[in-house]
Amino acid sequence: MLELTLLRRHDPLAQPMEQLRILNDDHGLPSFEETLAEHDSLPLRANGIRVLQINVGKLCNQTCRHCHVDAGPDRREVMSHQIAEAVIDVLRRTDIPTLDITGGAPEMNPSFRWMVQEARKLGRQVIDRSNLTILVTAGYEDLPKFLAEQQVEIVASLPCYLEENVDAQRGQFAFRRSIEALKRLNELGYGQPGSPLTLTLVFNPLGPKLPPDQTKLEEAYRRELRARYGIEFTRLFTITNMPISRFLSDLLETDQFETYQRTLVEAFNPAAVDGLMCRTTLSVDWLGNLYDCDFNQMLALPVISHAPQHIRDFDAASLSDRPIVTGPHCFGCTAGAGSSCQGSLTS
Ligand code: SF4
Ligand code: SF4
Repeated sequence: MLELTLLRRHDPLAQPMEQLRILNDDHGLPSFEETLAEHDSLPLRANGIRVLQINVGKLCNQTCRHCHVDAGPDRREVMSHQIAEAVIDVLRRTDIPTLDITGGAPEMNPSFRWMVQEARKLGRQVIDRSNLTILVTAGYEDLPKFLAEQQVEIVASLPCYLEENVDAQRGQFAFRRSIEALKRLNELGYGQPGSPLTLTLVFNPLGPKLPPDQTKLEEAYRRELRARYGIEFTRLFTITNMPISRFLSDLLETDQFETYQRTLVEAFNPAAVDGLMCRTTLSVDWLGNLYDCDFNQMLALPVISHAPQHIRDFDAASLSDRPIVTGPHCFGCTAGAGSSCQGSLTS
């Protein structure tokens, strides 16, 4: 396979970002930066910080095929309490309205509940990006009640309303356990019509294709989950699979990288550029290093070198309009209706 050969002849110590650029270039595809320039969208800069998104580490109770974090039960990268304190300190010193906590399974971090409580005391919105199954895992059964008491928004992956599709992507019994968790959340008021407890479901395609229309898919999810399981939810986000990490390995192994990357490039939508999440988000890794988004974090692509690089050195003035660091993976955010941690960007 061409791609695997390319990776093999490339320096194995090179950054994943460099490998991705080589793959993109060798297939004659334009760079993301060239494409932005063609649409008068360079330079791409941040426009304030509305969301502090922290990735508390790679520890997870699952090992999903599409995972862009390469998370799993054996990973040992876990944010320390000292870094968690530095994150809360930034919230204290700023008016950043949202703390968005992701992982891995963020609930497995020993400082998770402390961070939630501290951010809520400061009056900030808190988002828990949950895989659902952790909420019904032994030792975590009281989590749903805690999240409801703290009025945490739950953004939960459920890549399909069909059991076989979810289990194919997320592992055996993942679907049944997710349904069990959703029922528990519904009992607590999450996702019920008129409830302040927001339950957002997240769809990502099962293979190398773009997600369908978000509004139409939300209607189908609502109809099917209600009819089959009596489950309610607030809204659905569709997210494009990014050609990085475990999903990139899958694409390379099945010889589908070129087709998928070409699909993303050819579906470039200039209307998605304004709403790119990197423009209003600052991403923090488990060690406290700063990135423009979680995807750049996975590619070890830090914020631009003249900006502060660590949460302890946070400086709103120099980070709020920083130029964004981009690469070929960024086509995943601008394809079709656009994609972000807040779902599609243009529908
Ligand atoms: S996709 Fe989410 S639930 Fe699955 S392994 Fe990755 S972090 Fe864990
Ligand atoms: S991957 Fe998406 S969010 Fe991240 S820098 Fe690129 S365009 Fe922005």
